[in-house]
Amino acid sequence: MTNRENLRQLLLQLDGRGYKAYKDIKGSYQFPDFTLIIDRVQGDPFATPSQVRVQLPQSVAGFPPQLYQTPSREVALRDYLTRSFYHTAQDISGRRDTGNSGLIAIAHVGQSVLERTTAFISDELVEVRFVVGLPARGRSIAGRQAAQMLCDDILQIVDQAIKYRSLDATAILHHVETVEDADWLRQQLDERGLVAFIPDGAILPRCSGVDEQPLLNDAVAFQSPERLRVDFTCPNRGLITGMGIPAGITLIVGGGYHGKSTLLRAIELGVYNHIPNDGRELVVTQLAAVKIRAEDGRSIASVDISPFINQLPQNRSTREFSTTNASGSTSQAANIMEALEAGTQLLLVDEDTAATNFMIRDRRMQQLIAKDKEPITPFIDKVRQLYTDYGVSTILVMGGSGDYFDVADTVIAMENFQPSDVTEKAKAIAKANSTERTPEGGEQFGQITPRVPLPESIDPSRGQRDVKLKVRDVDEVVFGTQEIDLSAVEQIVETGQLRAIAEAIVYAKRHYVNGHSTLPEILDRVMVDIERQGLDILTHFPQGDLVLFRHFELAAAINRLRTLKVR
Ligand code: ADP
Ligand code: MG
Repeated sequence: MTNRENLRQLLLQLDGRGYKAYKDIKGSYQFPDFTLIIDRVQGDPFATPSQVRVQLPQSVAGFPPQLYQTPSREVALRDYLTRSFYHTAQDISGRRDTGNSGLIAIAHVGQSVLERTTAFISDELVEVRFVVGLPARGRSIAGRQAAQMLCDDILQIVDQAIKYRSLDATAILHHVETVEDADWLRQQLDERGLVAFIPDGAILPRCSGVDEQPLLNDAVAFQSPERLRVDFTCPNRGLITGMGIPAGITLIVGGGYHGKSTLLRAIELGVYNHIPNDGRELVVTQLAAVKIRAEDGRSIASVDISPFINQLPQNRSTREFSTTNASGSTSQAANIMEALEAGTQLLLVDEDTAATNFMIRDRRMQQLIAKDKEPITPFIDKVRQLYTDYGVSTILVMGGSGDYFDVADTVIAMENFQPSDVTEKAKAIAKANSTERTPEGGEQFGQITPRVPLPESIDPSRGQRDVKLKVRDVDEVVFGTQEIDLSAVEQIVETGQLRAIAEAIVYAKRHYVNGHSTLPEILDRVMVDIERQGLDILTHFPQGDLVLFRHFELAAAINRLRTLKVR
């Protein structure tokens, strides 16, 4: 076995040679108390940095099993190690101010605690995956600097960042206990007839539109209205109180700038866990919650949107509606039908991003434009059927129309960032002032028809390459020759989720898209494989930048493939 000193010698010998000669360092090296594995070496100084792993035996790492013995705790501890490595690597590699060359970095993570391929832990090992920008002088190898980075800096980072004795034991315990409590709370929702829970004291607003850190100074802490207050006894922190949002139809009303969208956003992200001090770490939402919005311009592949839209001009079918350029209302209808196809139990809608003509159609408009001249059956006439026919709840931010009072079970008003329960009042107003609308929704919601994707319509190849994937931020995937725009899929929070989703489409195509299986069946199989065998099954080589996603977001990406064809 080659050791650390062999690696140092090799790098010193390579000093001054052409950059390509770095390829020789691929392999494993025994360090005093861990193994360094160089998996992939970059071809030039400006290419994607080289991929590296370290493996420490648990005898060296020293993490007490109770910190990782349940699935919640394991994910939380891996997240903690990722963050710890991130900060230490930033400190240590930041000293060499040379851009990508000289960089030691692990995938950047946000406020969510997610399963990622950055770090792993078992009774035997701790493994951490990261990248190294191998240093260059012009186009030649800077061997001396590379030796310092790989042999000394990494050793120091490992010592400081991923050994239990170097870390803050209280902070680690708090991290894993918080995540465990959040998972536990989420599991309780169903039993209590709730779809979401927002604890008293939660801080929902963010620092700014581009900074997901909590707003610190002027934040008003959340306080539940009395009638909606529920309590739980969490396994770790014990008693907690807060607002429980019951299943059914919930409206969030209130004046502009009073905190409606901020509350809904916290609920959207309550499908994920958050780090301690995020402010939303115990906000939990049922797992099958999907944010719905209008998304004009998206493509749609044979979706049955007939529950919402019928009799389009030119007699276009809405039972199998396809377009390369959806309108606001058709895109919102497709977004709902696709979410239902994938098994959603809770729709989240904000008037800020919804198509008005999809949401409401008042009496005056009903009189001016006859029903047979308006293809859209507005959501207001369908939202209750969704609940009675399919058990699908909705939480809707709607400050602009009181017509929804008739169909709501719960009405929450936001005023100066504080919620109050105005259900009784809204119901009384609805009784005293009829909307005089004619209901347009018919007797039933209508069919949800699973589609069968055709294998040849999902093609990740490009030119000579069988698979070409690229990810830009959290908005866009390059899949073969096309770009999938995911900017309107708001429950994707990390770039690594997009990378994993791109790989998962390739994986799905390879294993399960066969011209017979329905999309929900395919999604299920992919998710089961990942759950059993981990995200690593998606790729041929160990990657350090994959982050777990939900099957809803995988579906969203497949549904936005412009080549997608279904049977
Ligand atoms: P609305 O949807 O009702 O128009 P927003 O949710 O967009 O309002 O909030 C308006 C502004 O108030 C945003 O800048 C948001 O960050 C801030 N905000 C929201 N909730 C709070 C809060 N609890 N404390 C302080 N500021 C808040
Ligand atoms: Mg708003």
